[in-house]
Amino acid sequence: MNNELAELLFPNIDKTPEETEALFPQRNLKEGAMVTRFGPSPTGFMHIGNLWGAFLDSIMAKETNGICYLRMEDTDSKREVEGAKELILNALDHFHIHYDEGFGKDGSYGPYIQSDRKEIYQVFAKELVKNGQAYPSFMTEEELQEIRQGQEIRKEITGIYGHYATDRDLSLEEVKKHLENGDSYVIRIKSPGDMNKQIILHDCIKGDILLPENIIDEVILKKDGIPTYHFAHVVDDHLMKTTHVIRGDEWIPSYPKHLQLFQMLGWKSPKYAHHATLTKKEDGKIRKLSKRKDPEFSVSYYKEAGIPAEAVRLYLATLSNTNFEEWYLQNKDKTLEDFTFSYKKMPVGGTLFDIEKLNNICRTYFSRLTADAVYEDCLVYNLEYDTSFAQLMKDNKNRLISFLNIERNAKRPRKDIATYKDLKQESFYMLDSLFFDDAKVTYREMEEKKYDITLLEEYATIFEEGDSYEQWYERVKNFADEHGYASEVKTYKASPEEYKGHVGDICEMIRFAITGRTKTPDLYQILSILGKENLKKRVKFFQKYLQEL
Ligand code: GLU
Repeated sequence: MNNELAELLFPNIDKTPEETEALFPQRNLKEGAMVTRFGPSPTGFMHIGNLWGAFLDSIMAKETNGICYLRMEDTDSKREVEGAKELILNALDHFHIHYDEGFGKDGSYGPYIQSDRKEIYQVFAKELVKNGQAYPSFMTEEELQEIRQGQEIRKEITGIYGHYATDRDLSLEEVKKHLENGDSYVIRIKSPGDMNKQIILHDCIKGDILLPENIIDEVILKKDGIPTYHFAHVVDDHLMKTTHVIRGDEWIPSYPKHLQLFQMLGWKSPKYAHHATLTKKEDGKIRKLSKRKDPEFSVSYYKEAGIPAEAVRLYLATLSNTNFEEWYLQNKDKTLEDFTFSYKKMPVGGTLFDIEKLNNICRTYFSRLTADAVYEDCLVYNLEYDTSFAQLMKDNKNRLISFLNIERNAKRPRKDIATYKDLKQESFYMLDSLFFDDAKVTYREMEEKKYDITLLEEYATIFEEGDSYEQWYERVKNFADEHGYASEVKTYKASPEEYKGHVGDICEMIRFAITGRTKTPDLYQILSILGKENLKKRVKFFQKYLQEL
């Protein structure tokens, strides 16, 4: 009877499971090599948690000389939107997430898009029907809803199982009648599960987790013959020889279904690594990142915000292994590819995704680049997002690179740049056209302080281009002495009433007049880059501004 039923339901499926298996031979990989896969659904939205999963897939495969492949999981056609697959491919490309085979690439385990694998799933669904392990269920939406409502009222497990699974016992004649009527149906497994039994998930990240055995007659093929996520996952990960399923921990409750399906099909299940869900702290409370509230949840946010892809990778690495950050800070000349990641060091619980922390990582990242690289990368960004600034960058290339070089190789390198956008505001005073554009904006940081403009004018005349740092400082100190300022801070502090201020106050005045900032990288170097004429011009500009106040 089961054979006949299987033929009745799947008349077009003539391949056997053996023939299908033969199309997916064992992979010829070394012992310990992991085969991982990234299985995004093309919904038009990719979040940073998805990207994190892809990152983990990619690094774990690479680290073990294994294979990472991309499988497009589009069985839920209701959720699919145009351009969604491109969005995923672009994100993987942008964040340099490498995969060896799969959608958009070659590979011998395809098709790598689930909608093209319909017949493959049906081969195995047919086999389950043949073996009496699956059956067609003709229950209508109304019937299902009624059952669910009753179960909820009685606080029972919801779903089709036990005496709710009435279609388990349909005779061949009854099935035929339904088919003749054109009644739609799904294929459900006959779950052999026992409500009183438990199974253990040996999770690579979270350790052993006890879960109830699955008792539900889960749907494996929907009305249109398309598999559910559960069935597609099991069939694909078996055939494509996945060794490690890395996925979000929201899937843990589904694991009993998956294990059961592997067992019913007589297959070995892969290992599972369920990574934590990304969370955010808000008003002292921890909550999941949200598509609606948190722009940083979307992978599309980072490119436009000017956050380097490599810095995002570094942050994902920080989230991935608890010992990564310390290693990165200690190893200035290494990249994350040099680090050995392990499941054991992955966080088990909810993981905070802290944009401030990412910001700090960005600063460290930029501080380790050469000035030329910062310039080039910022230029690429601005060519796309701020073309007028890009033009200014081109016109002032040498000046900007000299500026970026200030304190770059210092013991504590400067960390003023966190995004490609920041270069504009951090360097605006080095670019004459921006600096002289609007005095009100240029000097907006003006403090309640006395600025001695005559003193500044005079300073501009004694400044010598080409002075070494020591010569320059000596000159400023002499200048201070001659104008009633202490040349040493110490001397000033001993008897402040005798002086107008000290050498530092003079430097602050110069700094403010020529940059409009109270804090900048090394003043001597800025002066050296700008030169004497520009210094004079800027003092005049400041004077005019003060007069107009
Ligand atoms: N398509 C599933 C999702 O987007 C993938 C889950 C998995 O990796 O197994 O959530």
